[in-house]
Amino acid sequence: MGTKRETIGVEAGAPERRSQRGVVSESQIAGDRSEMPGVRREMSARALQHPFPNSERRKKEGQAAVMAASVGPRVYSCSNCQNPVCLHDDIISKSFFAASGRAYLFSHAMNIALGPKEDRHLITGIHTVADIYCGECNQVLGWKYVRAYEASQKYKEGKFIFEKAKIVKNW
Ligand SMILES: [Zn+2]
Repeated sequence: MGTKRETIGVEAGAPERRSQRGVVSESQIAGDRSEMPGVRREMSARALQHPFPNSERRKKEGQAAVMAASVGPRVYSCSNCQNPVCLHDDIISKSFFAASGRAYLFSHAMNIALGPKEDRHLITGIHTVADIYCGECNQVLGWKYVRAYEASQKYKEGKFIFEKAKIVKNW
């Protein structure tokens, strides 16, 4: 009797919630129980909700992307003109940031135009990037990683950053 893997089909968001809850363990809050057991326990458990907002999530992202069930084409469009520009299933990571705030890394893009290549110093080192524009209205949507110079960043090459503020869900 082989045991089947039951994790297939878990939504991408699930591992994040699970890891956050896992942070509040008995051993970690036990030290705060000295004077007012009930109250202190409650407070410390609450305080531990967001101690490491991103580190655990980053580790889980690879798995989450693989586990995300495909449920038809969920399309993101340009926030300015509704031109479809990328697919939810192509999201590699949601842990990126742009000047406008949070940004997502996608494996593919469509209906976009590329600006000139240029080297930029980003938080994770120097990269050759090209801005990406909406193919319809020319709004800047993010950038493409043309080349990464550090081995740990090579996975970004050929991938696209879309700024969350510049795209809208079509589902
Ligand atoms: Zn547009």
